[in-house]
Amino acid sequence: MRSRAEIERPPQGPPQPRPGVRLVPIGYRQAPSWTGELARRIGHVLGGAVGIETARLSLESALDVHRGQYNALTLLEGLIALPGSERLLGIVAGDLFIPMLTHVFGQAQLNGRGAILSTYRLDNAVYGLAPDDTLFAARLAKEAIHELGHAFGLVHCHDPDCVMHSSMYVEEIDLKREDLCSDCRQRLSGAAV
Ligand SMILES: [Zn+2]
Ligand SMILES: [Zn+2]
Repeated sequence: MRSRAEIERPPQGPPQPRPGVRLVPIGYRQAPSWTGELARRIGHVLGGAVGIETARLSLESALDVHRGQYNALTLLEGLIALPGSERLLGIVAGDLFIPMLTHVFGQAQLNGRGAILSTYRLDNAVYGLAPDDTLFAARLAKEAIHELGHAFGLVHCHDPDCVMHSSMYVEEIDLKREDLCSDCRQRLSGAAV
C-alpha cells in the first residue's frame, strides 16, 4: 500500500508560525475517520501545518506478548527514522507502556522530533462506560497537543487547567482545557525551532 499524505492548514492560529506536524497512525489500514478533525484541533492550538500520513510502520516489533502492550520507546525509535523534518505524532490503538510504568497515554522526546500516543485508554469502553465520540475526540486532541508540546520543548505545567498538566488518569484529562496556559504559550512562542 502506498503512503498517503495530505496537508490541512488551520483557518486561524497563534501569531507565531510553528514548524509542521505530521500525524502518523500506526497499525491502521487507512487513516482513521477522526484524523482530519484531530489535525484541525492541533493546528488551532499549536499553529502551523498539520499533515496526515499512513506510514508502513510495524507494530509487531514493539509488542510485549507477556504484557499485551506495546513498548512506546520502540515505536518512537521507528517513528523518528521516517524521512522529513516535521514533528511526528504516531498514534496507535493498542495500549502503550514504558518499562518503568504500567501504562502511558503517550510518550514524547522533549524538544525532539517524535511523540507517540495511544487511543486505548481514551475510549470509554475500557472503563465499561457508554461510548462518547465527543469526549473521545476531546481527550485525543488534548493528549496529542500535550505530547507534541513536549516535542516542541514544553515541560509539565503546574496549572491543572493547562493542557501541559500531567495526567495519570483519564479523569484528569477531562478536567484540563484543550489549550495552553499563558505561560506555556509564551514558552512555545519563544522556543527554538
Ligand atoms: Zn507529559
Ligand atoms: Zn501551562
